[in-house]
Amino acid sequence: MQTYDIVIVGAGPAGSAAAKIAAEQGMKVVFFERGNSPGEKNASGSAIEMHAAREIIPDFPHEDTPLQRAVEGGSFWLQSEEGLLCLNAFIQAWSTEKNDVKAYTVYRNEFDKWWAEKAVEAGAKLITKTLISDIIKENGKVIGVQTEKGEKFFGNVLIGADGTNSKVAIRSGFRGPWKPNEVALCVKYDYPLPKTTIDQFWGGFSENSCKLDLYFGQSMAPAGYLWIFPNKESISIATGTGLQEMLNGGENLNYYIHQFLQHTILGRILKNVKPRYYISHEIPYLLTYPTKPLEVCRDNVLIVGDAAGSVCNFDGEGWDSAVIGGKKAAEIAIDAISDGDTSKQSFQPYQKWYNSYVLSNLDWGWRIGHWLFNEAGYEQLANPLLKTFATIFDHPHIDHIVPSLNKNLSQLLPLLGTLMLLGKLHLKPYADLLGSLV
Ligand SMILES: Cc1cc2nc3c(=O)[nH]c(=O)nc-3n(C[C@H](O)[C@H](O)[C@H](O)COP(=O)(O)OP(=O)(O)OC[C@H]3O[C@@H](n4cnc5c(N)ncnc54)[C@H](O)[C@@H]3O)c2cc1C
Repeated sequence: MQTYDIVIVGAGPAGSAAAKIAAEQGMKVVFFERGNSPGEKNASGSAIEMHAAREIIPDFPHEDTPLQRAVEGGSFWLQSEEGLLCLNAFIQAWSTEKNDVKAYTVYRNEFDKWWAEKAVEAGAKLITKTLISDIIKENGKVIGVQTEKGEKFFGNVLIGADGTNSKVAIRSGFRGPWKPNEVALCVKYDYPLPKTTIDQFWGGFSENSCKLDLYFGQSMAPAGYLWIFPNKESISIATGTGLQEMLNGGENLNYYIHQFLQHTILGRILKNVKPRYYISHEIPYLLTYPTKPLEVCRDNVLIVGDAAGSVCNFDGEGWDSAVIGGKKAAEIAIDAISDGDTSKQSFQPYQKWYNSYVLSNLDWGWRIGHWLFNEAGYEQLANPLLKTFATIFDHPHIDHIVPSLNKNLSQLLPLLGTLMLLGKLHLKPYADLLGSLV
């Protein structure tokens, strides 16, 4: 019989973070990954945020960390019948003393492997190529897990870090499978390109840096957005939409990617370039207020990251809350084990953290998403905004511009929305600017 203090299912961002924190505190930890190695089953080509990475590895990044490009800014493309409006935003502080990198693009298959190695170095045992097929219960309480080959592993605490379709969450009775309005499907294509081409079109100010492109528009991504994340020698083009939207008759996501690629912006750059691969992946995407608060801990078991629905329901980001949630869950599990009480009651600090960090993030998404897509109506906003800009450029005198700006002030709301998005992404200068505007 194999017995551990903490058993973790999943060696993604959340599971490896929890494993590292727990092992560092002397816990006997095992964590499982169904893939040949961590990251193999995950959609790669995402961006990871420094503030969250440093919660787990304070001196992050190391020399051998497999990073792609430092994110120095983003371009927001607003598409409408009038054209495409591009808002460029740079997140590097203007003063060079403060140019700390906020985020990096990564290939998840490389990065997750490195991230899990840090937990192994701290003393956690990683078991790969092993699918956890069920949990083990005794007197109604979770006491361990079982692999598909029938091997059993027992622990005082089980952490479910097994992603969107979490077996731990479902089998432990937290919830059923996500409903179509609670999950989004993402599809991502990765195109190889010469470094010089990427530097030219997506490069930032420093070597190996970039700016991300986010496209909003009815014909590109009707219920979400489409994004280009540059890597050293490839670009990832991806989009996502709620499953319910697709069931309601929306086109399939490959259609939108192909439509987008027909556009002249990219048509010339990607002419004759074949994708190296494409991948689709689900993320939780809670589009409606839950009827009751989401439960994330029960006797002997906690759920974290995508398993706990932690993805922001506006921008689709989940890496930071997965990583910080993994850390919190591990710390609270350690305290509970030391006190000899691993009941749901003893895990309440984790539920409290979740309610304040994750739910407030979701609340933000509910508000802005509802406003942008339901109340304001994206097209009605983008068209006048483009017209406003056209007016500005047509008028040579400032006194003509000011009244027309005032008249159209309410129509500048997408810009405010964009600033809010930037503010939420912890891009300090824009958060400050937003603070002074509202
Ligand atoms: C295309 C795409 C792009 C994204 N880009 C970003 C981004 O730029 N920024 C951002 O913040 N977020 C992004 N996200 C969301 C982010 O990837 C997730 O929120 C994050 O990976 C969640 O981490 P996790 O550890 O909870 O789950 P996961 O990353 O899903 O990890 C779960 C792990 O558990 C393993 N596993 C699952 N079930 C079992 C089992 N039964 N037995 C053993 N192992 C199991 C899986 O193989 C996997 O390795 C993106 C998502 C997608 C799909």
